[in-house]
Amino acid sequence: MNVILLLTELQNIDLASNENARTRAETRAKLADTAQLTAARVALESGATQHTELESALRALELETGGLAEKLAQVNERLYSGRITNAKELAGLNEDEKMLQRRKGELEDRALALMEQIEHAAADVNQKHATYERSAAETQTRQEHAQAALRELDASDTELERKRAALRAQLDANTLRAYDHLRAAKKGRAVALIKNSACGQCGFAVPSGLMSRAKVGSELVFCVNCERILAP
Ligand SMILES: [Zn+2]
Repeated sequence: MNVILLLTELQNIDLASNENARTRAETRAKLADTAQLTAARVALESGATQHTELESALRALELETGGLAEKLAQVNERLYSGRITNAKELAGLNEDEKMLQRRKGELEDRALALMEQIEHAAADVNQKHATYERSAAETQTRQEHAQAALRELDASDTELERKRAALRAQLDANTLRAYDHLRAAKKGRAVALIKNSACGQCGFAVPSGLMSRAKVGSELVFCVNCERILAP
């Protein structure tokens, strides 16, 4: 049994498992990130509120205009009824009529301006609604992809765990202890492949004696510099 080959395989599986954990965390973060959709909803709501407020303002203006028109009709009725003959009173009514006409003109101008604003606000709401819908569809697609990716990760982890258990069952307790200890101490890389007669992790030259023992693989051989297990 080549212990070093088994450990190399075990490390590959553990590294793949770490990578899965990292991908899983990223995917979960993507799932939780609905900032874009929230922003689109907030923008839509604020646009809709503005539109509603402008329409309320227009209705209030229309009520005021209605009241004014009524007053104006009354003044005109009295002015041209022929019932009032007092010159001073007639002059007063004339003044009232002018004042009311001026006010009516002002209100009509404001109503026109408001209607224009309402038109713009309505277009803005339509646009924001479209943006929101688009964002909702994108978010849904993204979430479906993320869910599918998580299911794939689950399947991959199950398979890795099965292989990991099978490999560890073939290794003795001392070997596993050495591997686990180095893995924890060396950021997940307990085994270093020998490349060009040097440790693949730290680059330190591997003496030929160690190299041949690593090839046999019946015992653990360690890099004299970084202390990792050397694998051919
Ligand atoms: Zn080394």
